Amino acid sequence: MSAVVETASLLADRINALEESSTLAMTKKARELAAKGHKVISLSVGEPDFKTPKHICDAAKQAIDEGYHGYSPVAGYADLRKAIADKFKRDNNIDWKPENIVVSTGAKHSLANVIQVLVNPGEEVVIFAPYWVSYSEMVKLAEGKSIVLEGSFENDFKVTAEQLEEAITGRTRVVMFASPNNPTGSVYTEAELRAIGKVIEKYEHIFVLADEIYEYINFTSEGHFSIGSIPEIKERVITVNGMAKGYAMTGWRLGYIGAEKWIAEGVEKLQGQVTSGTSSISQRAALAAINGPQDAPKEMSEAYQRRRDLVVGLLKDIPGFKVNVPQGAFYAFPDVSHYFGKTDGNTAINNSDDFCLWLLNEAYVATVAGSGFGAPDCIRISTAASDENLIEACRRIKEAVAKLC
Ligand code: PMP
Ligand code: GLU
Repeated sequence: MSAVVETASLLADRINALEESSTLAMTKKARELAAKGHKVISLSVGEPDFKTPKHICDAAKQAIDEGYHGYSPVAGYADLRKAIADKFKRDNNIDWKPENIVVSTGAKHSLANVIQVLVNPGEEVVIFAPYWVSYSEMVKLAEGKSIVLEGSFENDFKVTAEQLEEAITGRTRVVMFASPNNPTGSVYTEAELRAIGKVIEKYEHIFVLADEIYEYINFTSEGHFSIGSIPEIKERVITVNGMAKGYAMTGWRLGYIGAEKWIAEGVEKLQGQVTSGTSSISQRAALAAINGPQDAPKEMSEAYQRRRDLVVGLLKDIPGFKVNVPQGAFYAFPDVSHYFGKTDGNTAINNSDDFCLWLLNEAYVATVAGSGFGAPDCIRISTAASDENLIEACRRIKEAVAKLC
């Protein structure tokens, strides 16, 4: 089978309809350029540049030595589910029992599971934009319909309770968003989440999928508030979290949900047919992370905040860039639309995809276009990198855009 067209037509329609993950696609391109010997600074994939703390690695080594080699229970080891339930109480003021917890292969897997379990073909999922690139594609895979609500730059990229209420129909099934947010770093305040909660309370057919994967990377004085802690809607909130960001454990692939028992059982049933329980070793490591000292997440968060200040300062200095001040996570999300319609004499920049590709080829700085995040005027820059690389990347960007007119 040689012709591309022929093989593509053999793929199932659902795969042909799916967008490639733009975060991972840009990372792949950056790796390819680096392999050719170019000095690429990759600020595309969102992943901590720290190593997993030692006591967590030690627990994984110990698990291997102790013989955790077999299949784990589909929903996760009982002691890990108990530790996660206790964590929900400790950090989020949410009362879950172990039976409400399902452990999966990353928060990405947890989110995809919940959407498969709750959304019927044709049902609507309200997504707050800018959103993480995989949300809309997960909805597509479930044959649901994404209803995207835009958070404006002026409102720190946040969607309001009023916007949500206007979007609700009889077909709305799930409302999903991340706080702290990827790609904007915005953090919904307790007041904003309570206002959203009031709307949800009125419409009993609607569930909230709250993605709290960046919970520990929060620079606000108010701190993190979980919408799932609001008693009136608790039964309809599924809270997703995981080890990847807070504990620098992206490669360990461990995420989890806290949800009503019937939803947790639905996820367990799905998982039992598709992936089984996640890695036994990662689960033992996660147990050590959750029950162990919590200094590392705090220290890493402080480092991200310092870099946020550094990068925001440098980006504000680039003519034409409009920059928000992220309150959490590790991304900057400047609006670069000032450069749309301009050219360096060879390449025309008409949108954020053109801009990012041009930047990669021109300045060897890998970023991700805002288009995949539902915000086509912006680009995402990961700040989870060394000061040296961040300073050099911003210098290169500034130098490159000076060529556009
Ligand atoms: N949600 C958001 C908002 C993310 O940025 C990510 C990034 N990986 C995930 C979920 C998935 O995390 P994991 O690596 O645990 O699958
Ligand atoms: N969440 C990260 C990002 O946004 C990891 C890559 C991915 O899974 O999309 O870059």
